[in-house]
Amino acid sequence: MKRQGMLIVVSGPSGAGKGTLCNLLLKRDRNLTLSVSVTTRLPREGEKEGVNYFFTSVDDFQRKIRNNEFLEWAIVYNNYYGTPREFVEKQIEDGRDVILEIDIQGAAQVKKNYPEAVFIFILPPDLEELKSRIIKRGSETVDSFNLRMKSAREELKAIFMYDYAVLNDNLESALLKMQYIVCAERCRVSRNKNLLEFIDGREEFL
Ligand code: 5GP
Repeated sequence: MKRQGMLIVVSGPSGAGKGTLCNLLLKRDRNLTLSVSVTTRLPREGEKEGVNYFFTSVDDFQRKIRNNEFLEWAIVYNNYYGTPREFVEKQIEDGRDVILEIDIQGAAQVKKNYPEAVFIFILPPDLEELKSRIIKRGSETVDSFNLRMKSAREELKAIFMYDYAVLNDNLESALLKMQYIVCAERCRVSRNKNLLEFIDGREEFL
């Protein structure tokens, strides 16, 4: 059965484990693609151009906004972040499902323009755990750390905009829940437009 690809929006506070979960999910599901965002934030140690992000200047980012090159964009923790429109639209057209790991402002824009997208919110076990995960990562300045902790409380309030909440207290069970969600969403009748053609001629359905 052929169907259009779907957008899978994954959000959650910094340190909730979105990145780890999405990367593992991508390894287990070859039909998923990750959208690599454009950002004006500086690369962290070990981050690679085109793999983690496309790193760019504020001027270039603003030019891309004017050229309508983003499917959504937002200022998060004082930096610009955006999803490249052309890449994502092509994937969807080709029937591939695309993960957008984006913040709550970006998710709200996607919800408006692509209401049929799937929205998953990753919950950390608690704010203390969140704190220790960000500290362990060791990549943030004191200011950036404080900003991320402050924003976490606000971000949690946005959960009601999402379809699914996945508690990341155990990596394997959180990952399984993500796989089940993706699997169930792919089976939705409304996403499989050519079901009638598929049923036609198959006697076991009649
Ligand atoms: P980080 O700096 O930790 O990589 O990401 C900071 C925040 O920006 C995270 O919440 C992440 O999900 C969000 N983010 C990353 N890429 C995008 C994007 O393309 N659009 C939006 N709206 N948020 C993004």
